[in-house]
Amino acid sequence: MTGAESGDWPFHGLDIPALVAGGWQPVPFSELVLKVHGRCNLACDYCYVYESADKTWRTRPAAMPPGVIAATARRLAEHARDHDLKKAAVVLHGGEPLLAGKATLATVIARFRSVMPPSCEVEVSTQTNGVLLTDTMLAMLDEHGVGVSVSLDGDRAGHDRHRLRANGRGSHAEVMRGLNRLAGSYRSLYRGLLCTVDLDNDPIRTYEALLETQPPRTDFLLPHGTWTVPPPRRPVDGGGAPYADWLITVFDRWYHAPRKETGVRLFEEIINLLLGGQSRSENIGLSPVAMLVVDTDGTLQQVDTLKSSYAGAPETGLNVFDHRLDDAMWHPGVVARQIGLAALSSKCGACAVRDICGGGAYAHRYREGDGYLNPSVYCPDLMKLISHIGRTVQHDLALAEPSGSR
Ligand code: SF4
Repeated sequence: MTGAESGDWPFHGLDIPALVAGGWQPVPFSELVLKVHGRCNLACDYCYVYESADKTWRTRPAAMPPGVIAATARRLAEHARDHDLKKAAVVLHGGEPLLAGKATLATVIARFRSVMPPSCEVEVSTQTNGVLLTDTMLAMLDEHGVGVSVSLDGDRAGHDRHRLRANGRGSHAEVMRGLNRLAGSYRSLYRGLLCTVDLDNDPIRTYEALLETQPPRTDFLLPHGTWTVPPPRRPVDGGGAPYADWLITVFDRWYHAPRKETGVRLFEEIINLLLGGQSRSENIGLSPVAMLVVDTDGTLQQVDTLKSSYAGAPETGLNVFDHRLDDAMWHPGVVARQIGLAALSSKCGACAVRDICGGGAYAHRYREGDGYLNPSVYCPDLMKLISHIGRTVQHDLALAEPSGSR
């Protein structure tokens, strides 16, 4: 099923001509996520690509063919020229992107850099499970200035609970070997770690295990889930905020450390928004999302995490051969992630922390039968976490005020 066939919001009920008449214009894409390889050498049990209702990966090429790479690069260059983009980010993604091999990846990077207008700076990075971070792979990434982020879920026990080889063997030892190489001789490429929260893992032990290679930045992701298929141990009928409790324990450890040990994106974004800044993350705040995904067959997709909603949810029906990236800017699912307040449910619209929370990650709002016009399934957790961080920051600001000032 594609989004349009689902009949849910935003495919029904979002009036794009009215938005335009009111002065709204779409934001051009400044980040392209390239699925250079659509298969993986791990079989993580929570993976949204392989373990969700969406099985479209089976129908697509394992690796992105040269024709798709060339057409995608041309489309991004065209988009950059049309919108006078000064910066564009290309993220080598998968599956596991490093399965594409050094030679192919080097060709992809060179192709993108060669076709982009000189006025547009291209930043290339990759998100990997870390298993294939060999010295020769890192040397190639270094030669091309590719930033590297690695998925790590904490210590060995926590990581190996989910991040497994197909034979059931844990991947922690292999990931740490690659990560130590990255954090050692190739430190300038090291962008950070991505950790999916598991309530069965101790929050402090998890956080401290992540610090082992001194990552410049860490990000905590909430497990995927919707109102129809709720996340693990997240009650949908209210009742507790277990993910907030877990994250608050980490926040307090991180915030009150005597020196800054790493950046934590989720916490820094919330503090930034509380202090009046703009959000730079899709998962928090109301800033428009300017990212598009290209699958191995050249189809344009909204965002992978929507695979947790229903089969076909990320599809736009567009591809790099027949369509400009501008065409995707008008897709209802893309528009819905760019219009901020106008995409919020009535409950979120009236919420005290709505400008910080922004309704949470778009994928977490889905409910079968009415689509994405709902609060996040993590609503009680987001409310509690944001309130806690807000009180902590407010308390410190009050202490920092000169005595006698109001
Ligand atoms: S805390 Fe809940 S109601 Fe408030 S904006 Fe976030 S999801 Fe919506």
